[in-house]
Amino acid sequence: MTGAGHERTPGQTTRIRGRHVVAFDTEQGGHVIVEGGEVVFRDDRVLHAGGPYDGAVDREIDARSHLVIPGLVDAHALMDIGIHLLLWDYPREEGYRPRRFVEGQGSVFDERQTRDGAEAMLAMLVRSGVTTFCGINAMVFKRWDDEPWEPPLYAEVANRLGLRAYLSHHYRSSVPIVDDLENDTLVDEARGHDGLERCVDFVRRCQAGAFGPRVHGLLFPYTQDTVSDELLRATSAAARELGVGWRMHTAQSVREVEWTLERHGRSPIERLDHLGVLGPEAMLTHVLHGRGHQGGNGLADHEVELLARSGTSVGHTPWIYLFGGRVLDAFGRYRRAGINVAIGTDTYPGDMIQEMRVAALMGKVAERAALATTAADVFDAATLGGARFLGRDDIGRLAPGSKADIVLVREDTATFAPTLDPIRSLVYYASIRDVSDVFVDGRPVLVNGAIPGVDEAELNGRMSTLLGDVADVLGGWDARGRSVDERFPTSFPVVRRRP
Ligand SMILES: [Zn+2]
Repeated sequence: MTGAGHERTPGQTTRIRGRHVVAFDTEQGGHVIVEGGEVVFRDDRVLHAGGPYDGAVDREIDARSHLVIPGLVDAHALMDIGIHLLLWDYPREEGYRPRRFVEGQGSVFDERQTRDGAEAMLAMLVRSGVTTFCGINAMVFKRWDDEPWEPPLYAEVANRLGLRAYLSHHYRSSVPIVDDLENDTLVDEARGHDGLERCVDFVRRCQAGAFGPRVHGLLFPYTQDTVSDELLRATSAAARELGVGWRMHTAQSVREVEWTLERHGRSPIERLDHLGVLGPEAMLTHVLHGRGHQGGNGLADHEVELLARSGTSVGHTPWIYLFGGRVLDAFGRYRRAGINVAIGTDTYPGDMIQEMRVAALMGKVAERAALATTAADVFDAATLGGARFLGRDDIGRLAPGSKADIVLVREDTATFAPTLDPIRSLVYYASIRDVSDVFVDGRPVLVNGAIPGVDEAELNGRMSTLLGDVADVLGGWDARGRSVDERFPTSFPVVRRRP
């Protein structure tokens, strides 16, 4: 980018002069686009966002060829291992999580491997303009819980990259066993409650500042169909007592809905309502399926109503749905009902610009209507939606008093196609490479398209090695003894030439 030195000096006032600034208009209660706008910040706070600033400043950042937006809030970001290896163009077969794996001992990946994955995944978030993320682990590789060292490790990596993080221990009262030979569930209620306790303890440590000012805790019962009624009630009570949110994968598949109807006599949303755990502190991720409307898989009107009335948030992760040929058909419907929708990346590549684009297009396709979901809708969800779930009015927006979480996107590239509207340009045309500079708490975490102190080629090399390790693990799980090459064939036969 164009400004001189980026490093923030305490007490120094910085002005960013933009081509367009997306500022938050408190009176209108929404974003506005200010042509030739300016953002002024001191330390971690925005002093001014809007038109020209009259006050004195210590330094200037010339962003007159940039779009200046608030940092994006990723509501569901995978932090660790490359499960994308399992996704595109492979049959979604059963045949993993065999009993011998679930009942075995020890962690599948060690701290070094987990750190390599986290560095690669979180670096992608920085590159795409994310400043706050809610992390998840790939639980497919956990026998039951995550490891005690995991959240602190993610906190360390987030701190090193300068991101604002919401972290958890994940917990559950049962785990599935799925392979070619059997389909079973192991239940251990006490283990679920121990997991909650461990997570509560981690949240308390975050609240006490153990991991610094940008690391926060959330409760995370893992999935609706692996958490007992008791554990859900206890989670909700603990979240209210701690004053934090909780998240849960919910209504991810038709099978989950059918199982819940069979087991509880209620759909997932009806069950959570019955337990009294819906509310503004809850974010249900995915919520793709419900009792079904007219032969479809979606939510019935009363289920949408239950989410809206309770103030429950929905986390939408459109990119990963595409792998399975799936669509959330209710994005527009949720928003029209007044449900807070946030957006998350869920898998590789952690590109929130792409995620916004897919969300907008998926919303149109789902309703077969060009205006069903717009660029404005998805930009709101990727900023204000995530912030609202986190109970924060100081992120996801640029206004006096908000956090200096600021993203500069180049408007002068071949990829940032000019339109009459920079938000449409961003959502429908921009490339992640157009994101040039990112500030979190006023600290530069991306400078002129590069992450200070990160060698991307070296990082990519470590991620490749890790994916080889992941493939080995999956190879070991195959009940029919197939090799990794057999299970995950390349698109075309590989010709190996010897040197
Ligand atoms: Zn997920």
